[in-house]
Amino acid sequence: MPRPYGGNTLTNNFIERSKIDKDLFILDIDKGQKKEIENIAFGIFSPLKGFLNEQDFTSVVKRGRLANDLPWTIPIVLDVNVELANKIKDSTQVALRTDGKIFGLMDIGDTFAFDKIESAKSVFQTDDPAHPGFQKYVSMKDTLIEGEVKVIVNDSDGSGSGSGSDDDKGISNNGSIENYSSTLNNFDEEFRMTPSQSRKTIQEQGWKSIVAFQTRNVPHVAHEMLQKAALNIYDGLFINPLIGKKKAGDFKDDVILNSYTVLIKNYYPKSRVIFSTLHTEMRYAGPKEAIHHAIMRQNFGCSHIIIGRDHAGVGNYYSPFAAHEIFKEYPELEIQPLFFPAFYFCKKCQGYFNERTCPHDQEFREELSGTKMRKMFSVGELPPSHLMRPEISQTILTYPRPFVE
Ligand SMILES: [Zn+2]
Repeated sequence: MPRPYGGNTLTNNFIERSKIDKDLFILDIDKGQKKEIENIAFGIFSPLKGFLNEQDFTSVVKRGRLANDLPWTIPIVLDVNVELANKIKDSTQVALRTDGKIFGLMDIGDTFAFDKIESAKSVFQTDDPAHPGFQKYVSMKDTLIEGEVKVIVNDSDGSGSGSGSDDDKGISNNGSIENYSSTLNNFDEEFRMTPSQSRKTIQEQGWKSIVAFQTRNVPHVAHEMLQKAALNIYDGLFINPLIGKKKAGDFKDDVILNSYTVLIKNYYPKSRVIFSTLHTEMRYAGPKEAIHHAIMRQNFGCSHIIIGRDHAGVGNYYSPFAAHEIFKEYPELEIQPLFFPAFYFCKKCQGYFNERTCPHDQEFREELSGTKMRKMFSVGELPPSHLMRPEISQTILTYPRPFVE
């Protein structure tokens, strides 16, 4: 198992609730940012312990590395408007709140302005306002705040239990306090894992090599064959669908989760697979996001990650192999990318093959495109069972609206 990214220790930023100062300023955080704060605190973005400072931000944007040279391609930042930035810039610490519940603390470092268009161009390699990642990025607020974040757990052993409720400790009269468990047991997010948890499982299984599979789709038989091709060679498989905000036309999170549950139950050797969800946003930054995806999976303990054609891409913004090429710029990454060619069903070969193993023309290949599937499911039609397992088609059909609108 590779070491945690960038060193030997995972970030584990928890604070006991009795240690919270009652008089802290409260900063409201949207749901998406809350997930990123959790990802920092749980160690998924190790070695980061908080939001980037100006020096690291500039370095990440300009050269895809932190100021200390460690590869890092996606800026992890907290944006606030200028007025709010002025209000909190002299605080040393603020409490973080979402949906009326305090869930964490942030040490306030420097605040700084940034050039949205220029930095977005560098991350997304386009300035087309129609690019969903670019669009979201340039609509950020004007000031970024640097600072370490922690999430709140119950006192005692650092692993809380039960969800929070109002009480006399901590910040009073400003909403209840949410408690995390360092093992995430109290989450309604059944399949979510921290890197500490996945590493423990990998160790218990005795796997030496484990392959991460990033997805934001329901599994076709082609995906299954790809994952199983990896399982022929490596010890374990870490299926890690990305749960979070996606674009219209993508499958909804529930649909993806239930499809995979059904697939693993019926078609996978359970002792060789970990299924866990990753709660972060798709940025559609193509190659740079592929590096980010690899870094997160190294933290989860994976030795390899499958990088697909046009990985984390959208539309025609990135060349199909840009996400492969970029790994050459980062030879020091411990997690190794696997560039499996995509599998398709070949009518001549009568099975699943790819360009390396089948000589037949396009006309013999059967693939399920997103467009084709959307069309079929919208009229209640099922894809043929050699392209999608019937259990999965049936699962999708139980949703009147399976796609993000
Ligand atoms: Zn063939």
